[in-house]
Amino acid sequence: MDVTKIFGSNVFNDDAMHKRLPKDCYKSLKKTIEQGTKLQPEVADVVANAMKDWAIEKGATHYTHWFQPLTGSTAEKHDSFISPTPQGNVVMEFSGKQLIQGEPDASSFPSGGLRATFEARGYTAWDCTSPAFLKEDANADVTLCIPTAFCSYKGEALDKKTPLLRSMAVVSKQALRVLRAFGNTISKKITSTVGPEQEYFLVDKEYFAQRLDLITTGRTLFGAPAPKGQEMEDHYFGQIKDRIADFMKDLDVELWKMGIASKTKHNEVAPSQFEMAPIFATTNIAADHNQLVMETLRKVALRHNLVCLLHEKPYAGINGSGKHNNWSLSTDDGVNLLEPGSTPHENAQFLLFISALIKAVDTHADILRRSASNSGNDHRLGANEAPPAIISIFMGDELTRILTAVEKGEKVTAKGSTFLTVGVDTLPPLPKDNSDRNRTSPFAFTGNKFEFRMVPSSASISGPNIVLNTIVAEALDEIATRLEKANDINKEATAIVQETMKKHGRIIFNGNNYSDEWVAEAKKRGLPNIKSTVEALETFLTDKSINLFEKYNVLSKEEGHSRFEIYIEQYYKQINIEANTAIDMVKTLYLPAVMRWAADLADSIITIKDAGGPVSIQEKNLRKVSALLESADSKLEKLEKELNAAKKIEDGVKQAEAYRDNVFVAMNELRQDIDTLETLVPRDLWPVPTYADLLFKL
Ligand code: ADP
Ligand code: MG
Repeated sequence: MDVTKIFGSNVFNDDAMHKRLPKDCYKSLKKTIEQGTKLQPEVADVVANAMKDWAIEKGATHYTHWFQPLTGSTAEKHDSFISPTPQGNVVMEFSGKQLIQGEPDASSFPSGGLRATFEARGYTAWDCTSPAFLKEDANADVTLCIPTAFCSYKGEALDKKTPLLRSMAVVSKQALRVLRAFGNTISKKITSTVGPEQEYFLVDKEYFAQRLDLITTGRTLFGAPAPKGQEMEDHYFGQIKDRIADFMKDLDVELWKMGIASKTKHNEVAPSQFEMAPIFATTNIAADHNQLVMETLRKVALRHNLVCLLHEKPYAGINGSGKHNNWSLSTDDGVNLLEPGSTPHENAQFLLFISALIKAVDTHADILRRSASNSGNDHRLGANEAPPAIISIFMGDELTRILTAVEKGEKVTAKGSTFLTVGVDTLPPLPKDNSDRNRTSPFAFTGNKFEFRMVPSSASISGPNIVLNTIVAEALDEIATRLEKANDINKEATAIVQETMKKHGRIIFNGNNYSDEWVAEAKKRGLPNIKSTVEALETFLTDKSINLFEKYNVLSKEEGHSRFEIYIEQYYKQINIEANTAIDMVKTLYLPAVMRWAADLADSIITIKDAGGPVSIQEKNLRKVSALLESADSKLEKLEKELNAAKKIEDGVKQAEAYRDNVFVAMNELRQDIDTLETLVPRDLWPVPTYADLLFKL
């Protein structure tokens, strides 16, 4: 296998464009991609035609505008290239207009009130900064996919990509101002870069098919713990089994073809849990790629008779899955702005960008927390396996020492160098490996980037990155304004770091985020501890949030509000599906199985009694099982009652709260009885695969 040939073979990338487009046209398109200039219609026609020819040569018959509605997944409607001729034949056509804009009849996607049905059409617009690519299905069906943004007739964002692109533009603009203040005249653009590490579970398809809960909700709603869990820590980084290795190899090939730089793969902490990470990319491309990674994981798993679970918490009592969103800013001439430099000048800039992050994350901890919330993540955040629901920043001891010294105006010494004035003295070198050791922090500085570790495994990474880009842009805006006015830029830089530390230094925490002491300490520091999705989503409605996103034109008030409504609805609908599934499984699978066992016991008691044998053990078991059966039945009734009550509530937030506080709780209570029964009923009578089957039989 020649990876260099495979990589990007299904992407209409720079190389393909260069080869297939006339010189002028290529130049013009490059300018549009790099500088955002308007694409001329004539150029668009030529590009579309070249793209079509390329796609057809590779077997494509259809194209689609590929977009990311607020459901969190991706959407596509396929159109074939065919166009009839008067002679009754067809030719394959694709115009510039069809490339640039589409009108999918997409009225069923959530719009949160942004779009009345009479103007139900949404529009898709080509995002030429993310290259077009081919998707291949197993039966060699090939489709040309054009990454697009999805907007309403009035231009309101109905998707996750539009605000992401807006946030990228705004952070670029503000970061450039800071660089200009430092005399940089070379850089033209700053990009936010992202490398998302993706965790997932695999389960044998045969077992999956027998679990209605996995099929409808992606997680097990019942299941007693297996005799073995993750306590031996023997899975983490363990040897990869052949069956899994085959799957991973196939996965890599599929990803590489689409130009996704899949780089690392390994076993994760929980049994049957794995992780993949690509090499980082520009944020919108990274977000597109992550959607493709999730889709391809699912698709390739099926080819191996496996099912990929992306849910945040498929199994109780076992670690769940997340995404680590590695984020940084980098100039178009290749400088990572979160990399400490070697000159005083570079250091000053570095410390200011660090200050911007400290200020941004402290000021908008609630919004950042919101960006990582969904019903699945509610099982994890604060549950001692993932970061707590409290946002803090891990800076590492060395950088914290430096920042604190600057704050106090003290000299720092490290390895022979001293440091006092930002921008005049050099920074003591930061030991790299000491910066990545704290795995309990939700937001960690890891030497040259920040790692946001709260992101839900199943969610699009757009939301968190929209927030990151925007809050950092706001902080950089303020810093730039000060620098632009300052007479002595080094003095001003020092003052900014000092003030940031005084006002926002409370957000830095290098200790164990899983400890109870931290929860108490964070409360003392006044840091928000937002425990559930419903509370988190309500921050969409605060003036602080509305003003921030409006000021930087990332989300209008209406766009923000529509997201709030859609996500609240998604939250309670998800729990509604879970409750319906739980009720169905208990009524049609678990209770009948338990009753069968009770009848067996009763039969056995009669038979043995007749024969004059002892029946005390059978009677004891029958009593136990019968008591639990009765208890489960009354909990089932309770769940049904709570569910019916919740369904009737009209106010969205109140309804979501009822699902969280009543339905979800009743579901967990019912689960306890069923799980206990699982330990009492013979395996051959138990109607579904157990945790041992799901977790250890791959
Ligand atoms: P870890 O120790 O967490 O595995 P790695 O250095 O392997 O750290 O990086 C993890 C992820 O971070 C990868 O996807 C990598 O490409 C990404 N990454 C590295 N540098 C940057 C950067 N400057 N911006 C964004 N992501 C980055
Ligand atoms: Mg990492």
